[in-house]
Amino acid sequence: MSSFHFLNKVQPPQVTALNLPPNTSCVLLKKRTISVEATPLPILQPDGVLVKVIATGICGSDLHNYVAGGVGGRPVTEPIVMGHESSGEVIAIGDLVTTHKVGDRVAVEPGLPCRRCINCKTGRSNICIDQRYCGSPGSVGSLSRFYALPADMAPHIPEHISWEESGSIQPLAIGVQIGKRVDLRAHQTLAIMGCGPIGLITAAVAHAYSARKIIAFDINPSRVEFARKYISPITGRPIIDHVFLVDAIPSTPIHAPAANGHSHGLVEKVSEAPSAAGLADGQGGSAAAVEDDHEDVPVGDRKWEWAKIRAAKYIEEAGLTAEEGVDRVVEASGAEDSGLLGIAIAKQGGIYLAVGLSHNQTNSFPTLAVTNKELDVRGITRYTASCFPSAIDMLSRGVVDLKQLITKVLPLSKSTEAFEAVASGREIKVIVKNQET
Ligand SMILES: [Zn+2]
Ligand SMILES: [Zn+2]
Repeated sequence: MSSFHFLNKVQPPQVTALNLPPNTSCVLLKKRTISVEATPLPILQPDGVLVKVIATGICGSDLHNYVAGGVGGRPVTEPIVMGHESSGEVIAIGDLVTTHKVGDRVAVEPGLPCRRCINCKTGRSNICIDQRYCGSPGSVGSLSRFYALPADMAPHIPEHISWEESGSIQPLAIGVQIGKRVDLRAHQTLAIMGCGPIGLITAAVAHAYSARKIIAFDINPSRVEFARKYISPITGRPIIDHVFLVDAIPSTPIHAPAANGHSHGLVEKVSEAPSAAGLADGQGGSAAAVEDDHEDVPVGDRKWEWAKIRAAKYIEEAGLTAEEGVDRVVEASGAEDSGLLGIAIAKQGGIYLAVGLSHNQTNSFPTLAVTNKELDVRGITRYTASCFPSAIDMLSRGVVDLKQLITKVLPLSKSTEAFEAVASGREIKVIVKNQET
């Protein structure tokens, strides 16, 4: 954490009196190498609380650090304590704190804006240029036994929310922010690309906000199965109306038979239609001649033509043909094919939100279609003010259920197992119990 926020270097007496055990933490040493070891106990500040961390969720961005040694272009250059989705119990409070008391159940808001940069000064602290963020390079994560943070960043959690579920409040807060960024309104239609935790949480938030129809896509059959069984606590029925299993979009020319043998009927149907992206349709001529023509067509353009064919099929199966697509698209996988399909499924004037993190820096993207459809294409970084309180409120009222998403719970001592479980893609939400060492 920034030294600016941690002026006091001496532990106050209310902490030393506790005689706490070692602060066992999950430390990332290098790519795919974790050590569970004692790290210094954080210094409680006058405006802060010291939290005995009980539960921590592991998520995609942790995984990027673990598998690739960095996330969002920020490489891990020295050992860091991981984790940023935590909840726990207050065990000491700073001298200035009046809002919290020992024994309070709290969540950890992981982002600490500098409050001095141009983005902070213009009210966009989530994109703070000097943001400290739990578990990111330059900051200390919360996958440890104890964690200290400013009291105003430790929102209270009601008694009836379980600790396991509390370990997923942060991704739910991200789901709330996704709703804000994609400008989700009641009775809209939504497509979600990717059925991982963020995709499913987005669906849960949209459902709680009264989305009219939610469709989702994934390339992994078990994730598709899981998504189909994610039940609404409001209606008792599945949250997502249609979950489609997709495979890779072919890069073969649209007029030649696809390698995976997709029917000619669809190809012909689409090649007769004017191309929304303004691509040459190459009407007529022999297949060989057409293939020659396509030598110069970029791979992205070829895939885009396939994406449009597929989108038309999914739109029809979801009963959205008359509307010609969905109001909102949340891309929660980071995959190029998902981006193409998402743009193809968006209706004119819709909003497309890029959420998923890719290991690649760039993807092919149908810019002409974005222009022709007049789509808003947006990005998202972290969460904003009120996202945590909204997330806690939705859990508290029971309109969102995260319990179904928790597929594995492990002790802190088995952190490597926890990360490998997430990396395997077989689990949805993995929760680490920080006090079980
Ligand atoms: Zn996360
Ligand atoms: Zn800032």
